[in-house]
Amino acid sequence: MDITFWGVRGSYPVPGAATVRYGGQTSCVEVRADSGARVILDAGTGLRALGQRISRTGGGVPARHHILLSHVHWDHIQGLPFFEPAYVPGTQIAVYSSVAAADELRPVIAGITRHEFFPMPLESVPAQFEFHEVEPGLGFTIDEFQVMPIALNHPFGAVGYRITADGSSVAYIADTAPFTEVLHKRHFLNGLEPLTNEDRATLGQLRADLVRSLRDCDTVVYDTHFLPHEYEKFPHYGHSTPDHGLEICAESGVRCLVLYHHAPSHDDDMMDDLAADYRQKGAAAGVDIVTAREGMVLAVGAPA
Ligand SMILES: [Zn+2]
Ligand SMILES: [Zn+2]
Repeated sequence: MDITFWGVRGSYPVPGAATVRYGGQTSCVEVRADSGARVILDAGTGLRALGQRISRTGGGVPARHHILLSHVHWDHIQGLPFFEPAYVPGTQIAVYSSVAAADELRPVIAGITRHEFFPMPLESVPAQFEFHEVEPGLGFTIDEFQVMPIALNHPFGAVGYRITADGSSVAYIADTAPFTEVLHKRHFLNGLEPLTNEDRATLGQLRADLVRSLRDCDTVVYDTHFLPHEYEKFPHYGHSTPDHGLEICAESGVRCLVLYHHAPSHDDDMMDDLAADYRQKGAAAGVDIVTAREGMVLAVGAPA
């Protein structure tokens, strides 16, 4: 199994001279089994280039694609209307999202292609779309991939996925806040609300479930949007730091942590410093730390 990073940014795309080395497109990761079977994690603006690749290599033949969404914030769905295979008649596209978002998933996806925003409405797109609800803790199978959704701590809810195939496993943990200061709920949190005892218990349970779900995973792609001093200012934005990701991964016995969902403000020079700094911190904690770059291909289960 290997994974390819088509978009590594959070929030909004920032292609340009300052992000040439790490990339500027938003969240999209391709997971490929040895057989060539594929699942796509998130549909940020990175999905466009993946769609072009699929069109070129697939010869325009209709196929069935599986897109697992962590949630439906812009940076995780904006590439969907620009996914070339959607315009090949006979193509089927199965989109998966958590129950909290999926009850509104079709209208949400149809909403971004409303005629005010996009020239072609969803119902006119040649591909057939299916929408599937997933629930944390309830595993399912796509081709040879075993998929386990994991609840995360993010505004309106988000799910991670652990995917097992070919005797190795990769997990995709975007987006999530740590499990300490803020418990994100479906309603809008206007800044910080004090935690109740019940909230603390829920956070403790979420964290314990995440650590258990990642146990002995080969590679974990984790939302490490913020540097620690940035997180201090915005703990209610729903994102973690590399330190939060490392703490969870070390506790879970994860071999390789991939820093991901980089803040748009982190230019290539900042990213170089961050990558070097956390490679050392990871080594001290017994976890290989790799910093995601657009276009990077990682073998899962092989040494980083
Ligand atoms: Zn995001
Ligand atoms: Zn988000």
